[in-house]
Amino acid sequence: MIELSDRVLSGQAITRRDARAVLKSGDDELLAVLQSAFRVRLRHFGRRVRLHVIENAKCGMCTENCRYCGQSADAAGAPVYPLKSVSAIVQGARKASRAGAFRYCIVTSGRAPSNAELERLCEAVRRIRAELPIRTCASLGLLTTAQAGELARAGLDRYNHNLETSRRFFPEICTTHTYADRLTTAKVVKSAGLELCSGCLFGLGETVEDRIELAFALRAAGSDAVPVNFLDPRPHTALAGQPRLKPGECLRILAMLRLVLPDREIRVAGGREACLGVMQPLALFAADSMFTRGYLTTGGQGLAKDRAMIAEAGFVLEGVER
Ligand code: SF4
Repeated sequence: MIELSDRVLSGQAITRRDARAVLKSGDDELLAVLQSAFRVRLRHFGRRVRLHVIENAKCGMCTENCRYCGQSADAAGAPVYPLKSVSAIVQGARKASRAGAFRYCIVTSGRAPSNAELERLCEAVRRIRAELPIRTCASLGLLTTAQAGELARAGLDRYNHNLETSRRFFPEICTTHTYADRLTTAKVVKSAGLELCSGCLFGLGETVEDRIELAFALRAAGSDAVPVNFLDPRPHTALAGQPRLKPGECLRILAMLRLVLPDREIRVAGGREACLGVMQPLALFAADSMFTRGYLTTGGQGLAKDRAMIAEAGFVLEGVER
């Protein structure tokens, strides 16, 4: 496995065969796999960790049927509320900034933002940019070229739109929009000059080959940042009975992504606490960023424990310089 990081560090791309070897390696090789990912992480990011805070700015009422999502048309039980006010969104950013977050991620449920919603979100982004030392990201669903341009002009740094899984497996998890729709939004984001945050959700029932296809699709799409979610099955969703991935499997996935996307931000995201358990700190040997203070509809272990975990594992938090 060390030979793999030698090759990556010398500028060669790893192949699908290499990625398969990582994902299929056994638990006895886990530390060797992580060491390989860590050497690449060290080269590009040192020991720094960036914290991201999610603002669930509009929850529920979604027309789409993503099978994993507690806010989908087919699920029940998640809170439901319309888009928050500009001042509430800015207040969330202020709290995130005080907590030492590098980036504030504004997320809304739904297929795509309405123009009125976009106007309000652009106003919030303008104010955050003017008032606070924190970077911004928005995750608002499918986007038109005009909408991406408006967000870029408002000063948004980054837009999130996950591919989630492979092209082959995508119709198994959503039928109200297509993989091609997602790729189109990824292209629109890049064309508008925004950074693209596009990642994945593992543990949906996909195969090893789906995981490899996804990693290479993210590289081809030019994803600047890759949030890596592990399914923590939500009650009242179609995937409620899906078993959680084991910690070793999650760590091999993170290591594989680090080797396929050596200089891209890899963020350990939803499902970190639930799927990795006591192995959580090991994720930082591949990932260079993480969410804190929980996720969209689930809580996390909390800021104090996250900060302690980072420090005790020998990593260093990085804030924003402006
Ligand atoms: S993931 Fe987004 S688009 Fe899909 S059901 Fe949930 S809120 Fe809707």
